[in-house]
Amino acid sequence: MLTSDISSVCTYCGVGCDITAQVQNNQILKIYAQNDGYVSQGKLCIKGKLGFDFVDSDKRVRNCRVKKSFIDNNFLELPRELKARVRTLKEFDETYYEAPYEFTTSLAAWKLTEIKQRYGRHSFCGMGGARTSCESAYMFQKFVRTAMDSPHIDNCARVCHSPSLKGMRTTIGEGAATNPYDDVYEAENIIIMGSNTTEAHPIVANRIIKAARDKTAELTVIDVREIQIGKFATNSLVIPYEANLMVLNMMAYVILNEKLYNNEFLDTRCKGFEEYKNSILNDEFANPEYMKNLKGYEQLAEQIPAIARTYAKKKSMFFWGLGITEHLDGSYAVMAITHLAMLTGNIGKSGAGLMPLRGQNNVQGACDVGCLPYYDPDYKEPKEVGLMTPDLINEMIEGKVKALYVMGEDIAHIHPNQSKVHKALDNLEVIISNELFMNEVSKYADIVFGVKSAYEKTGVYVNAMRRLHLSQPLVESDLPDDWEVLRDIENKINGEFIYETSENVWDEVRDAVSSRFSGATYHKLSKNRNRGMQWPIGKTDTPILHINEFRTEDGKGQFTYHQYNLREQVEKLLNKKETPKNEFYLTTGRTIVHYNNAAQTIHSEALNSRYDTDIILASIEDKEKFTSEKVILKTQHGQTNPMPIKFVKTIKTGTLFTTFHHVNSKVNYLFGDEADELIKTARFKSVKVNVYSA
Ligand code: SF4
Repeated sequence: MLTSDISSVCTYCGVGCDITAQVQNNQILKIYAQNDGYVSQGKLCIKGKLGFDFVDSDKRVRNCRVKKSFIDNNFLELPRELKARVRTLKEFDETYYEAPYEFTTSLAAWKLTEIKQRYGRHSFCGMGGARTSCESAYMFQKFVRTAMDSPHIDNCARVCHSPSLKGMRTTIGEGAATNPYDDVYEAENIIIMGSNTTEAHPIVANRIIKAARDKTAELTVIDVREIQIGKFATNSLVIPYEANLMVLNMMAYVILNEKLYNNEFLDTRCKGFEEYKNSILNDEFANPEYMKNLKGYEQLAEQIPAIARTYAKKKSMFFWGLGITEHLDGSYAVMAITHLAMLTGNIGKSGAGLMPLRGQNNVQGACDVGCLPYYDPDYKEPKEVGLMTPDLINEMIEGKVKALYVMGEDIAHIHPNQSKVHKALDNLEVIISNELFMNEVSKYADIVFGVKSAYEKTGVYVNAMRRLHLSQPLVESDLPDDWEVLRDIENKINGEFIYETSENVWDEVRDAVSSRFSGATYHKLSKNRNRGMQWPIGKTDTPILHINEFRTEDGKGQFTYHQYNLREQVEKLLNKKETPKNEFYLTTGRTIVHYNNAAQTIHSEALNSRYDTDIILASIEDKEKFTSEKVILKTQHGQTNPMPIKFVKTIKTGTLFTTFHHVNSKVNYLFGDEADELIKTARFKSVKVNVYSA
């Protein structure tokens, strides 16, 4: 039997590894990385290697589904031709009819038009786009903004790296990684903060571990617990919860106080330095001596100055993840990171730069093409700014938003304050979902379109280092692509989406995102399929950003100081407050075998069998505080289901860690509306919980 080897890109995390699939009879037999793989370097993590069996899962949505209750509630108003066809619908299960594609797109178009006419254009919103291709994400925001004339478009960056975009754009004009991953080998010093890199971005972690082992770079890891990559670090700092901004400002304080900054870089490339310097040198929370007041964390008073000196003196790269962004002051912490690079000139050259590790495979691309309420494609100002997801949830509860289109975004699982989200979804007149599997939000959906997965289609994905990769189908599927569903619904509303192929869509995207993608034709991307190309792409691509000037309006980097706000664990440590025995600070994160809400990984037997339930990790020192093998965590917002607990040496006393991939754990019920002050990214990385025996 003939087998073929087809190259494409991994569908999971933002590392964006090149993959090659061995395919026989339209079935993927194996996925591997070519030895000369530019991103993979010949290795894939377990998700890339084994997580392809979801493609053939019998749980895939391979049809269009319409809720029976939706038909019942709308039957009298249906146009005559749709009413007549309702009688021919086949029962799919107790809840849904299976409906022909043509009927379902007509039904969706009719209902959305009716909603818009009855309640106005602001009654519709769209969420999603970071898991699918740039073509589909672009089409999604265009559908929301033009077909429905609503400004309310958002994507899952709201719950992950929006603070990186905000913090970096405010200071240096561009919210994206500045260098290629391989610059790790050029760096003399690497800092990782708030990123469990071996679990969340394993193939980037491989490079950093190699640099640390080969001693080409000194490695510092900063986190609220000891993580695996810390074993390779020269300095591993465990800091209190919600102390990121304080630690970063302390690093800057040392650099300023000891005059380790780069005068020439500051004079020629930056502005606002003097004011920033004065603010920080007069800020009591920025002096590392402050750490001596925090019991259990006193050694940070010595460690922080030491790592600050190394950062200033050596060619340094700074990596961060959601441990930075998912906090009340996530955007400010990102600004504090960019300040460090600006102070020391550690940006705009090989081996020195800023590396936000974006989560989802195409979250960078979804933002680039305008799936954000405050940016049109190419980060242009939109004609009207829409609402961010948490505000849209409020509008649903208030009855102002009546219709939701979700595309690959399970807001009924991965967003905070789930009791509220579920209440909001209950209040809608119609939910439409493009999905691979019935997840929590698609179970709410009145209309579900089964669509192609990333392994079944052609499209462009942008990874965490701005690298565009043109995917190609590993197997054939007769399901529609996301953008085709949107086109076919739009054609029944306005008839202006005239596209035959994904390349037609991409050519429009290149035009709409011209300052980044103009030169990135399918032809050029397919010729560079292994290496990919980093935006901005004109004749050639741009591996390193900000070489001669920043991408701000005047080319200067802007200092924007924000003081740390004393709160939570730091305040308690400072005041030596006694805490109840069952009170803990919880942080959340990932395990290597799952991605996000496990939308695909849970349907991969090879992956899910390795981690089929979320586990809480607690300090071995706190063992006597627990009397059962399973516990329930509670906050004022909600509670988890009983979860298993494991005691480890890597967690500080009084703190907990858990993953939140599995919907049954109900971890997202613990979080309220507390979020990043500027950009509303949920505070997933720190919540005070009470623990009860299950
Ligand atoms: S590191 Fe990310 S992109 Fe690479 S194989 Fe693993 S999941 Fe896929």
